[in-house]
Amino acid sequence: MTDGSFPRAARRFDSVGFSEIVQVRNRVLKLLAAGHRVWRFEGGEPYMPTPQPIKDAMTAALARNETRYAPSSGVPELRQAIVEKVQRRNGIPADPESPIVVNGGMHGLFAAFATLLDPGDEVLLFSPYWTPIVDVVTYHGAAPVLVPTAKARAEGLTAALARALTPKIKVLYWNSPTNPTGEVFSRGEIEEVCAFACDRGLAVISDEAYEDLIYEGEGHVSPASFPGMAERTFSVFTLSKTYSMTGWRSGYVIVPERWRTAMRTVVLYSINGVSTPTQWAMLEALRLPDGFLKEAHEGYRKRRDRLAAGLREAGFAIETPRAALYLFPRIPPALGADSKAAARELLDRAGVATVPGIVFGPEGEGHLRFSFSVAEDMIAGGIEALRALAAAPAR
Ligand code: PMP
Repeated sequence: MTDGSFPRAARRFDSVGFSEIVQVRNRVLKLLAAGHRVWRFEGGEPYMPTPQPIKDAMTAALARNETRYAPSSGVPELRQAIVEKVQRRNGIPADPESPIVVNGGMHGLFAAFATLLDPGDEVLLFSPYWTPIVDVVTYHGAAPVLVPTAKARAEGLTAALARALTPKIKVLYWNSPTNPTGEVFSRGEIEEVCAFACDRGLAVISDEAYEDLIYEGEGHVSPASFPGMAERTFSVFTLSKTYSMTGWRSGYVIVPERWRTAMRTVVLYSINGVSTPTQWAMLEALRLPDGFLKEAHEGYRKRRDRLAAGLREAGFAIETPRAALYLFPRIPPALGADSKAAARELLDRAGVATVPGIVFGPEGEGHLRFSFSVAEDMIAGGIEALRALAAAPAR
């Protein structure tokens, strides 16, 4: 099929969106290039740089000429360290063949969905959800089935999931701690969802990007640590958030045996392995002591609480989340309930960049996402700009 004298892009792109978070970022970059001051809360990255030992390990790997093809699923030393980490920290019963090293969480999720989904399949997930998931599901010709989180928690997760279930649902996507709300599901809730997945014969794709960014209360619980779950769960991890390695594109997936060959094939033909020197740096990251994030947690907590207090003062209703990098407040009535219009207004009139809640699903409408993982003077300046906007006459 041609469009004029050129072939058209594949039909799947007729229905797959291009991340709206990236679109917000592009608008911000345009404003900055035009010389405007922007208070940037639209991102989702750790506020501190990559720890020095990780950078040094990359340099050392280059000096040793670790620059050749590695096995496409990962160098053996790294895969061994991953097995030890997930056994010790996550309680996941991994074996030496379980891990596949990937180009970050995004790639791990893409590869997991590619491994499981046929056109016409459906995927069960809670909403609000991390924006790219629905696009990745759609890319594979499958369809998302959304379960509103707040309602489900009020009514009971099993009942809510059972009501949403269709015969086409093959996969349950699970993300705790959650982007964009920073919510953490309790051990009891996770147990309930795991029992549901087992009873109904579903595969689980568990996105554990924020496992190390829980600031209070019960720590992270991995679904694959429950009996019977390791054989049906793709546990997707990334080094982006824990180790401030967003730009390194590094992650790993613990893959159940029955799907390993398929997933290895996806990785082979998509990237043929993560860059070899990067893998040696990943190994160093996994060797950092478990408590190395303690100081960073202090910094996250401080930023979270300061931004939450400032937003409340500016009229945003907000519950302080106990994890991840985000605040997801309700938009003050003066700004209206349309999150895209509110985000545009904040950017145009106050120079405050946020992500409209609607991009995280219908349940996100009426909210804006602010990242609190930014420099402290960004928080102070942003709060001041919001205060001035709240005091300004309405347009
Ligand atoms: N899952 C969630 C929920 C995320 O928020 C992110 C990053 N924003 C990722 C996965 C993927 O991160 P990366 O590709 O940088 O590893």
